[in-house]
Amino acid sequence: MIANVNGCVLELVTGDITRQETEAIVNAANGSLMGGGGVDGAIHRAAGPELLEECKKIRKEQLKGEFLPTGEAVITKGYRLKAKYVIHTVGPIWDGRDREWKMEQLADCYRNSLKLAKEKGIKSISFPSISTGAYRFPVDLAAEVALTAIVGFLRTDPLEKVVMTLFSKEDYQIYERALHKLLEEG
Ligand code: ADP
Repeated sequence: MIANVNGCVLELVTGDITRQETEAIVNAANGSLMGGGGVDGAIHRAAGPELLEECKKIRKEQLKGEFLPTGEAVITKGYRLKAKYVIHTVGPIWDGRDREWKMEQLADCYRNSLKLAKEKGIKSISFPSISTGAYRFPVDLAAEVALTAIVGFLRTDPLEKVVMTLFSKEDYQIYERALHKLLEEG
């Protein structure tokens, strides 16, 4: 599905984010930035070991040894990926508690990634469905939060292209329904 938001193409696709050809792809990382499973592992494997080296450097220098806080984002190069950059953000872990707060943190992941992309002059970016794998966020709620945050950002600050890369047909359909609903509501 393709929508136009304030001159920006917003596209939903199914597929593997490591193969996206947008200028940047977003990694659903964990705070350690040391890699992991799911989309994080796939991105590190496809980018090559230099990515982990740069992540270690960020931990040490930019974050002074601390973890990257939930909802925040940092940027690295893409190395062997088609994408020139990887934006790493940390989604919230869903445990059914602090619902509103977790939704706000998830929205921050999308907003802060887009803000960082804008600051770097990046014109196209692909997101995975942050927090809906190992971090167990309900996909229908995550879709609503993600798309509301993306559309809200683009309405004041459009890029050229934003792609949501969904790993399964089921997730794609959930995001598609959420986007239709959001655009109908205006
Ligand atoms: P989190 O820890 O934020 O929940 P996960 O990587 O476990 O992150 O899952 C987030 C989403 O990314 C899930 O929907 C998962 O199916 C999906 N995913 C896993 N690998 C890929 C990939 N290569 N490309 C796109 N999405 C992926």
